[in-house]
Amino acid sequence: MGLLSQGTPLSWMESRKYNEHVRDNGVEQLINCFRAAKDRSQDPFLWGDEIEYQMIRIDDDAKSAKLALDETEVLINLAENGKGRSNSVNHGVLFHPEYGRFMLEATPLKPYDGRKLSDYSYVEQNMAVRRDVARSEMSDRKVYPITLTAFPNMGCGDFTYPKATTNGPASQSLFLPDEIINKHVRFPTLTANIRIRRGQKVDINIPLYRDVNTVLDQIDPTIPKRDLFPCDAEPFLGAAKPGHIYMDSMGFGMGCCCLQVTMQPSDIYEARFVYDSFVNISPALLSLTSATPILRGHLADQDVRWNVISGAVDDRAPDERGVAALNGHNPRGGIADDVKLQRIPKSRYDSVDQYLGDLRKDSCKTDDPQYTYYSSSFNNINSPINSKVYKNLLDNGFDQQLALHFAHLYIRDPLVIFAEKINQDNTKETDHFENIQSTNWQTLRFKPPTQEAVPGNSSVPGWRVEVRPMEISITDFENAAFGVFTILLARAIIKYKPNFYIPMTKVEKNMRVAHTRDSITEGRFSFRTNGWHGQSQPGKYAELSLDQLFNGYQDFEGLIPITRKYIHETFQASSAKDQDDLEQVEVYFQLVSKRASGELPSTAKYLRDFVLSHPDYKHDSIVSERINYDLIKLADRIGNYDHELLPGFFGKEISDWLFRRGY
Ligand code: ADP
Ligand code: MG
Ligand code: MG
Ligand code: MG
Ligand code: MG
Ligand code: MG
Repeated sequence: MGLLSQGTPLSWMESRKYNEHVRDNGVEQLINCFRAAKDRSQDPFLWGDEIEYQMIRIDDDAKSAKLALDETEVLINLAENGKGRSNSVNHGVLFHPEYGRFMLEATPLKPYDGRKLSDYSYVEQNMAVRRDVARSEMSDRKVYPITLTAFPNMGCGDFTYPKATTNGPASQSLFLPDEIINKHVRFPTLTANIRIRRGQKVDINIPLYRDVNTVLDQIDPTIPKRDLFPCDAEPFLGAAKPGHIYMDSMGFGMGCCCLQVTMQPSDIYEARFVYDSFVNISPALLSLTSATPILRGHLADQDVRWNVISGAVDDRAPDERGVAALNGHNPRGGIADDVKLQRIPKSRYDSVDQYLGDLRKDSCKTDDPQYTYYSSSFNNINSPINSKVYKNLLDNGFDQQLALHFAHLYIRDPLVIFAEKINQDNTKETDHFENIQSTNWQTLRFKPPTQEAVPGNSSVPGWRVEVRPMEISITDFENAAFGVFTILLARAIIKYKPNFYIPMTKVEKNMRVAHTRDSITEGRFSFRTNGWHGQSQPGKYAELSLDQLFNGYQDFEGLIPITRKYIHETFQASSAKDQDDLEQVEVYFQLVSKRASGELPSTAKYLRDFVLSHPDYKHDSIVSERINYDLIKLADRIGNYDHELLPGFFGKEISDWLFRRGY
């Protein structure tokens, strides 16, 4: 999330008059950025991670754990001019606001240098400092920054501290008070505008975990029968599905935490190649980091957050989704009558729809999809575009594939427009471009530089790729491991130039597999198995377990072994410090490897098993307040490397290493 504009956000009915204006000017801004930066080359490989936290108030006397809504000063203090600024900047960390008032995001102050071994071992240290700084800033000493993907009892009873009433006009949720939303006006406006454009509240239905006493044949009997807003009737008009966990608000999704990494390859071509290479690695990274077994106080029959967020910001009207509107609702939602609607198959938060196309000359010798790296035939899903934007981009020097990418993002409406920001200088500002770009939340984000980013201007970033599917893990050790592994894999991909293209329909299928329970061990992911050998052979696709994909097997050199090879070819251990750093990276690889093989439980499995064996659990898939408290305590202990718990969580080998290193 970038900087927050100050000003007056427009309500949906006001803002929709400017939708085309924002798109037109956003595209002009993009064209100016592209003109400035398209010939940039030899940018250094820099990267950075983003970690999101939930601020949780743990009351050991009351045996309760609640989302803390009163710590918003933390961000004010840690911001650029805040009184705690030195506490963050002097420690090399930066804090950012997030959707939830109970959330924090933190990044390194400056990106890491991916060419330096020591920067890979520094990551975890930086993450640990962020946690310490955040904790030290909490005004209520019972509040802890915890890295859990979803708060288990989100939306159940009094799950916040202080208590808030569930009657907010922005979300109109039956479960979440508006007080959980960031106080900055952008966020309640975003929440309301999605709801109004859609023509009803969002409805997220996640399959319930099936236990012997689970109620499966009716909608959740605890859904409140309120009569405050007209939309209160929606769950009873079909929005809530039997056998599912029903959620009706943006906060259920955008209140989730994740791990993201952003990298800067050397130029636009390399960036496109890295992006495309990660398109089909993304579903595997989502599955590998599975950490979401509980939603709204119920065990889910899946392990990840992704489709929850996807549903939570799905602003498409019924006619765009191609479904019947709920009884009494407008199939056009809140879209103006003179706007021509098109069918839009996916939410604006979803997996990548199109490859960017690898345009390096040596990979485009033929259009035979069996041999070439990129071929347009791989983009085989229906991915509608804004044809006016497409034409404009083609007229301004974009190649077809890049034009298609942005023209697809530009099928969306802006969600929040600030009155003071309607007229912008398209040669200097990028707000209109970012308005659409940053509310297309896909598994990967292709981040263009600004208008200043002319060749040679190294004071501003170049072309970047963000990898976004990963769930947040409980410890900094794991988050560092997954972040570092992803970046080193990208480095290996840049060096060895594998061909990981596969028809997009198979990527879609892999995303569905990642949403099945225990997908790490039970799921099979389509992958191009002879990809390391580039275009010299026809593509061979197989269904791989994550063990086969990451650890390799006879027909495929796994993602871990190839990355390990890259490290040993690239970094020499010439000092004891180098030895130490290499050993640390190797332990990260062991964690990734053992999670992929199933030797170690995923976070999701570990937490689900904790609930299933809790004395308070009634085999009805319901997570009580007491279980929620015990689970948060567990996460806090693991997050602090409690020696009693580590062997069960990380296995003996990794725990022994952690103990030796003084964790
Ligand atoms: P967003 O929320 O839009 O993804 P953030 O600023 O929160 O953006 O995070 C961006 C990440 O990119 C941070 O980890 C930051 O360190 C990293 N980063 C910043 N500049 C560069 C760069 N030039 N190249 C690669 N990564 C960068
Ligand atoms: Mg974030
Ligand atoms: Mg961010
Ligand atoms: Mg405290
Ligand atoms: Mg309220
Ligand atoms: Mg990000």
